[in-house]
Amino acid sequence: AALVARRASARARWRRAVALLRDFEEGCATPPARLRQVVDAMVVEMHAGLASDGGSKLKMLLTFVDALPTGNEEGIYYAIDLGGTVFRVLRVEVGAGSVVTCRKVELPIPEELTKGTIEELFSFVAIALKDFVEKDGKDEQRVLGFTFSFPVRQTSVSSGSLIRWTKGFSIENAVGKDVAQCLNEALARSGLNIRVTALVNDTVGTLALGHYHDEDTVAAVIIGAGTNACYIERTDAIIKCQGLLTNSGGMVVNMEWGNFWSSHLPRTPYDISLDDETQNRNDQGFEKMISGIYLGEIARLVLHRMALESDVFGDTADNLSTPFTLSTPLLAAIREDDSPDLSEVRRILQEHLKIPDIPLKTRRLVVKVCDIVTRRAARLAAAGIVGILKKLGRDGSGVASSGRTRGQPRRTVVAIEGGMYQGYPVFREYLDEALVEIMGEEVAQTVALRVTQDGSGVGAALLAAVHSSNRQQGSI
Ligand code: BGC
Ligand code: MG
Repeated sequence: AALVARRASARARWRRAVALLRDFEEGCATPPARLRQVVDAMVVEMHAGLASDGGSKLKMLLTFVDALPTGNEEGIYYAIDLGGTVFRVLRVEVGAGSVVTCRKVELPIPEELTKGTIEELFSFVAIALKDFVEKDGKDEQRVLGFTFSFPVRQTSVSSGSLIRWTKGFSIENAVGKDVAQCLNEALARSGLNIRVTALVNDTVGTLALGHYHDEDTVAAVIIGAGTNACYIERTDAIIKCQGLLTNSGGMVVNMEWGNFWSSHLPRTPYDISLDDETQNRNDQGFEKMISGIYLGEIARLVLHRMALESDVFGDTADNLSTPFTLSTPLLAAIREDDSPDLSEVRRILQEHLKIPDIPLKTRRLVVKVCDIVTRRAARLAAAGIVGILKKLGRDGSGVASSGRTRGQPRRTVVAIEGGMYQGYPVFREYLDEALVEIMGEEVAQTVALRVTQDGSGVGAALLAAVHSSNRQQGSI
């Protein structure tokens, strides 16, 4: 009788785990109709953010980039790329229509520097740049592009103040300050004779490099540690800056789409728990469903609840209770096509999460949880991209703004960068698939997502070239 009771309760616990999985799956559902609602909400918010400052959670920030590199740039430029998990210094040589990164150094950012003072962080940056530059000849004219991947209220192409931190950075004394000026001061302190010529978001750098290679590039998307997009807008559509004039009639707008929010987004209780764990609660809601630093954590929260309520992981609930122990690279490695018995999944669970050997059907459950998280993320990112295309009249829905309608397809290129799309094939497949579901095969074929390599940094160097004193004619 005891055995029968044990079996019955084991079955009940398994059913509980499966029920939690089903709830989670339903909560994350993104059928095409829902994605289209997200697309439309994105377009509405874009308009609202362009109409007035604070008009939307989408900040739609001016970049003052009204000219993109054309291929006529020449010279040697430096770039600093700060804002993800690695920090980069680059030396870029441009000429004869080609751009080469002649040298690059990548350094992890020490965790404590992301929580200290801006002087400490920028001293680290300045010292790295100094080491780097001193390897080159002394007398070169030096122009610097500074990629700073956080929301910045620009006051010119080379200056702007930090609005708030994202991605776990929290350096209180930097908020509201001109980050280009702070860096310039750090550069001066370290005796370096070089100043910031272009202060750009990583999306803007990526767009610049994308556009350099292909003039049909109209937008850029980053899906890495964080997520964001920028695109080329007509100045007359930027209502909040009436009278804004540019030579080209256009300007790159940094959407800061990570902060997008809509009631149509499929939010689950786990998303709310995740938000509670972060330093920027109630902000970056879209980012927290899509980007690298959060996805593994969402999966961990689901697994932890399963461990508590069903004991399918044995006595290991404690091992799953520490936030951010399941990193997104691990999430990406927990896959179905691993091997028939999911031995790699077993290894990851044992080595990284200290979950002892669990039966195959439970390993399958873990794989499923990770897949749901990844799929939702990729599909929402796709909806965001279609939102931009729709705003530009390039999603095939025939909105009049472009003056063109269905049947006259024109090619659209979106530059894309970041570890999620580049290093995570399943994510890419899900995203590409969702683009087709939303726009239809025919229109989706006119849209190319083009991966740029180091575009955020190299693009900043190119923009520094375009906007340096020997200003070369750019185009948009
Ligand atoms: C930042 C954006 C950045 C994106 C990708 C977000 O957290 O707010 O400025 O472009 O991450 O790095
Ligand atoms: Mg980056």
